[in-house]
Amino acid sequence: MPGLAPSEIRQQFPIFSHHPELAYLDNAATTQKPRAVIDGLAAFYEKQNANIHRGIYSLSAQATLQYEQVRRKVAALIGAPGPGSIVYTSGATAGINLVASSFLLPRLRPGDEVLISAMEHHANLIPWQMACRQAGARLGVIPMSPVGELDMAAFRQMLSGRVKMLAITHLSNTLGTINPVEEMTALAHRKGIPVLVDGAQSAAHLEIDVAGWGVDFFAFSGHKLFGPTGIGILYGRAEHLEAMQPVIFGGDMVRNVTFEETSFAAPPQRFEAGTTHIAGVIGLGCAVDFVSRLDRPAVRARVEALGQYARALLAEIPGLRFIGEARQAGAIVSFVLDRVHPHDLATFLSAEHIAVRAGHHCTQPIMQYYGIPGTTRASFTLYNTREEAERLAAQVREAQKFFT
Ligand code: PMP
Repeated sequence: MPGLAPSEIRQQFPIFSHHPELAYLDNAATTQKPRAVIDGLAAFYEKQNANIHRGIYSLSAQATLQYEQVRRKVAALIGAPGPGSIVYTSGATAGINLVASSFLLPRLRPGDEVLISAMEHHANLIPWQMACRQAGARLGVIPMSPVGELDMAAFRQMLSGRVKMLAITHLSNTLGTINPVEEMTALAHRKGIPVLVDGAQSAAHLEIDVAGWGVDFFAFSGHKLFGPTGIGILYGRAEHLEAMQPVIFGGDMVRNVTFEETSFAAPPQRFEAGTTHIAGVIGLGCAVDFVSRLDRPAVRARVEALGQYARALLAEIPGLRFIGEARQAGAIVSFVLDRVHPHDLATFLSAEHIAVRAGHHCTQPIMQYYGIPGTTRASFTLYNTREEAERLAAQVREAQKFFT
């Protein structure tokens, strides 16, 4: 098992040898890639490249084997019962869209309701809003408190017989809040309501146990888990995937085709029409190997402590206000600074080689709730250090002097 020391972990990420001064604090947007993932991708293209499933020759058979093997690794990582419930998608967004259009829409009737929360990323909001609009259903929004915690009493009240779906983020990309998805799933299931958990931010950092929690769907992206862009996972309970019709049609997803009729392959193939991102899958497999070898609870504790450390340092700065101060939170720190626009602050920090994100973070309703145009967001992961948090706080102070 590789050591826990960030310096040791950091050495495995080549980007930092090319940018030795870089404090990369935009991990909620995408993570950097370890050598193992970069080499794994290159090795696939160099030594192994072939299309999958339809080839009889050995290169294709081996590529198929590797491709299918990754489903098992992913299933093990997130506590899924087996590879059959793991669908390759292009990312969390595509997974959520698939569930909204293929699972929900056909069963949504006028007057029904879909529940999301006040802190959803647009990717876990718009697909449900569109489905509701199409079906004449209503989008219900679980409210949150000013510190960014969901109002669980209100949530309980909202669980009526009209609700046909609950879609909830596990870890908010803007507030850092970790939601009690297991408890929320149990409450929703008591009313027979299926649950999708948006794991885009949590898959890399939290222990995931989809079968233990009993969630119906869990979606995430490879690129936020140290893997390639353009590849993601949708976990779905077998009985749901069986019942769902594909929404994209083409090669590699059928049993039989005539001009009159087509019968579809079993899941997950049914949802993977055309040539998929094969190399991406292989790269994702390398990323899953990478995180699986770590002591995940210890890494989580260290990264969350780092987030707390950054908060403590920033809290000393007069005129700085955190957006999101939930008791259960990941290492995502959003804040606003009096009289300094988030874009100006991020530009100032960039000149100091500190990469943070500024804006609405694809959560415009959160900005509306707080009445702000955007926040500056620093998001930490396993290669970040206390020194980077200190640099961030020091340069935010400098920016404040500069701009005011
Ligand atoms: N949900 C959340 C909470 C996210 O943070 C993101 C990415 N910012 C997404 C969904 C969408 O992920 P992707 O863009 O990789 O599909």
